[in-house]
Formats: sequence, structure tokens, C-alpha cells
Amino acid sequence: MAQTIDGHFDVLIAGAGISGIGSAYHLQTQCPDKSYLILEAMEDYGGTWRTHTYPGIRSDSDLYTFGYRFKPWIGPPIATAEEILNYMGEVIDENGIDQHIQYSHTITGARYSSTEKLWTVQATNSATGEDKTYTCTFLWMCQGYYNHAEGYTPQWDGMADFKGEIIHPQTWPEETDLKGKKVVCIGSGATAATLVPAIAGECEHVTLLQRSPTYFFPAENRNEFADELRRIGVSDELVHELARKKALFDQDETCQRCLTEPEVVKAELLEAARGYLGPDFDIDTHFTPKYRPWQQRLAFIPDGDLFQGIASGAASVVTDEIERFTETGLQLKSGQHLDADVIVTATGFNLSVLGGIPFEVDGKPVDFSQTVTYRGMMFTGVPNMAWVFGYFRASWTLRVDLMGDFICRLLGHMDAERMDEVRVELRMQDQDMEILPWMDANNFNPGYLMRSMHLMPKRGADPIWQHTQDYWKESEELPAVDLSADEFVYSRRSAAQSTAA
Ligand SMILES: Cc1cc2nc3c(=O)[nH]c(=O)nc-3n(C[C@H](O)[C@H](O)[C@H](O)COP(=O)(O)OP(=O)(O)OC[C@H]3O[C@@H](n4cnc5c(N)ncnc54)[C@H](O)[C@@H]3O)c2cc1C
Repeated sequence: MAQTIDGHFDVLIAGAGISGIGSAYHLQTQCPDKSYLILEAMEDYGGTWRTHTYPGIRSDSDLYTFGYRFKPWIGPPIATAEEILNYMGEVIDENGIDQHIQYSHTITGARYSSTEKLWTVQATNSATGEDKTYTCTFLWMCQGYYNHAEGYTPQWDGMADFKGEIIHPQTWPEETDLKGKKVVCIGSGATAATLVPAIAGECEHVTLLQRSPTYFFPAENRNEFADELRRIGVSDELVHELARKKALFDQDETCQRCLTEPEVVKAELLEAARGYLGPDFDIDTHFTPKYRPWQQRLAFIPDGDLFQGIASGAASVVTDEIERFTETGLQLKSGQHLDADVIVTATGFNLSVLGGIPFEVDGKPVDFSQTVTYRGMMFTGVPNMAWVFGYFRASWTLRVDLMGDFICRLLGHMDAERMDEVRVELRMQDQDMEILPWMDANNFNPGYLMRSMHLMPKRGADPIWQHTQDYWKESEELPAVDLSADEFVYSRRSAAQSTAA
């Protein structure tokens, strides 16, 4: 049966989250002649910031760096989901991006033909059930890194016995009423650290139950440097640029210090916690992780709100392991029982590799775990495609900007050379290179990545075949990449195909 094509675009962007909107901006600014479409599964833009609606939802990195390079941030550095959505909405409106977005369109498959040098992308309109087909030359994957439909909840003995409510923060029911309830929040990451102080005043009591502690970095939710620049009349654009530079400088310094003097940084973090919690609080048990600072994401807590909640008595922290769920709460391995009406499982995400979308190249399914990544953005054996996978130690969006520049330069290079296809391929000197998992677990090891590392593309020993997670290096290296280097293999459509197209 002949296939109806609902449109051809030079570039198709998957997802209208912060990556997709930023990538669209860069594309239309740097490659104004390219036609493009964004396919977004949800009814509106925002991705992460629309999916997560739990109490207190906010960024944990500062918006001078989580915001885009090109759009000044003028609010407090740590922003609520609503503020981030407003910011993204302004970017969409100010740049006419809306007309390029198809909402409620879930990509269900992508097939590449090396003969036609084209992707054929299937999508389903969730509002009407209608299946659609698009073609594009380049696929810019901005679908994020986790499954939006459902968070990760480990299975514990006795869960079915629990008479109260179990809620995962990713799917927070709108009607949840915690008044007068005892709540236990399982987890010690950024989500738990946000949620616990946000509900502390509302419920009877909330207990943060963690298996092991996390480092928290309490600081005022204001940027003195930016405030001072504003006070003396510096423009929003310049404040953004300078505050961003300063934030990056400070973050780099912290990262370096975590490597060169981890014990000093650790002592500072623990001292800050003690400042809120008092000299008698058991910091050793509850807030002293075994790993060095930054080995897992360092969770920023604005104004020390988590510590304040604990100090006030409205919240408490227990460091223990769950033996089983009971009818009335949680039986812990130490013998303690935690009574609960509501148990919140802030236990993380399910990693999703390329949105779980089935990919095919020339009729063969792509197994991404058998590919090697070029700088954590392109993949061997998968032409004309890039995945925006941001940073974890620095703001995700910094990479959206850097990759935007890179991909636009790549598209421009292909046009200049009259090429229709780019592939990344291991070079002669890479043939004996050691092939390793996506991420070095000693470098960065969050649970969702550890659980699914076997599904992720591989990295090679040479840094060009890795997502180094190093913004500072990449900010120098990416703009300088030689697009004629041997790892890039370009080709043209045959003359016959070009005529047909
Ligand atoms: C609660 C929370 C707080 C966070 N805070 C920070 C922070 O402070 N700083 C930081 O750097 N990072 C943070 N992160 C990481 C965060 O996810 C990223 O920074 C960023 O928001 C990811 O943006 P994205 O656009 O790449 O992906 P997402 O936000 O996941 O958006 C992807 C979009 O693609 C769409 N999509 C997915 N699959 C398909 C498909 N098949 N077809 C069509 N559309 C599809 C989704 O519907 C979604 O809209 C946080 C994450 C969470 C969950």
C-alpha cells in the first residue's frame, strides 16, 4: 500500500522539552533555510517541567546556566517548574517556534534508508488515534533520557498489604490531600529533598527514609552578583551573560575542589548542615555519604529548606533499610517500624534509550547497545541523527546550546560540501580501541543509569568516543571539531535519487 507522507522536513526534532525548544531556536537562527518540525507526545511544551507536578517541584541547578545562553533569566536562581515553563513559553512566543510544533504526536518508529538518505518517521496523534508518516533528512532527538509515563518503584515484600496510599512523585495525583497524614518519603535525591520541605507544613509529619545519605548544598536562593549588577543598571542581557560566566566559574572550581580536596569540601558541606541542624544532630549517620562530593549529583537546597524542615520537627530523617511493607507502614531492618498513611517512593526514573523508539537502518533494527557514541551525541551505524543528552554535573541545557552550535555547523558543512548523509565511524586507529559501557561507574553512578547501562550505547577509550560529562572541556572542543576528520563519513544521494527527490 502506498504510504501517505504528512510532510517532509529538513530536520525533525523529537520532543518539545527544554532540549527540543532550545535546539529549534538554534536551528532556525543558525540555519534559517532549513525546514523543521517538532513532534511532541504531550499536549504542551515543557517535558520534565510539565510531567512533574509534585509539591515544591523546582530546578536544582541555577537558571543562569539551566536557562539558555540566548534568553536572559531574571528570577531567583532556583526556579519552580511554573517559572521554567513560563520562561520556555516566552522563548517559543518570541521566536515563533509554536508554528513548528505538532503536539500530541508520539513518535512510534524511525526508519532510515541509505539509498534515499532519508528518515521515515511514524507518529500517532494521541488525540485522534491517527497514524502519520513524515520524512526528514536529519533527526534531532530531544526526547530526554527517562520514561515519562512511569517512574521507577522497586518492589518490596508486603507492598500489597499496605492499607494506605503509595505515590510515585512522577505521577503525583492532583487530588492528593496530605492534611493530618503521616507521610514517609523513600529516597534521598533531589526529588525527596524538594518534596519533604514542601509538604512538611501540610501533613502531620513527614519522614525522609533513606538507605544511604546524600550531600546537600544549602545556600540562599539569590545571586548576589547578579542582584548587584542589576542594582547598578546593567542590562538583563549582560547580567545573564556575566552571572552565567560567574556561575560556571564557581561550579568548575567546586568540581575541581571535589577532585583535589574532597575531604575539605566534605567538611564544608557537613559544617553547613550542622549550622542548620545544631551540634547534637547525628550528621554522621544521616548526612555523611560514603562517596566523595560530586560522584553523584550534589543536591542544592535553597535556603537550606530541607534542613529547616528537620530542625523545626515537622520533618525527620531515618537512615535504614526496608525489611517489608506492613498494613500500617514500613518495617525497617533495624527493627524500627515507621507508621504511614502515605508512602511516597522518590526512587527515581526508568532510563529510556532514545525514547524506546524502534529504529531501523536499511531494514535492520538498531540495537543502540551495539553502537559506539561519538561524543555522547551521534552513534556508529546510525546516520543523520543526534541525541541531545545533557550534563549531570553542570546544567543539562549548557549542552543544548553547545550541541545546537555543533549540529548547525555540521548541517552547514554538509550543505557546503553538497552531502546528504553523515555517519560517524571508528577510524583505523580506533579498531583495537577498548569498548566500554556508556559511563564509568566510578565517575558517575546514579541508580537509573546503573540499572540500564547495558542498554546504552558504548563508549570507546578515546575521549571523542565518549560523553565526557565535562562542559568546560567540551565548550572548547566542540566548536573546534574538524568536520572533515576521518571519523565523519559523508555521502550523497545518487543522481537518480536526487532527481526523484
Ligand atoms: C524533577 C527533575 C528535576 C530536574 N532538575 C534539573 C536541574 O535543575 N538541572 C538540570 O540540569 N537537570 C535537571 N533535571 C534533568 C532534566 O530532565 C533535564 O535537565 C531536562 O529538563 C531534560 O530536558 P529534555 O528536553 O532533554 O527532556 P525532557 O524534559 O524529558 O523532555 C522530552 C520531551 O520529549 C517528549 N517525547 C519523549 N518521547 C517522545 C516520542 N516518542 N515522541 C514525541 N515526543 C516524545 C516528551 O513528552 C517530553 O516533552 C531534572 C529532572 C527531573 C526529573
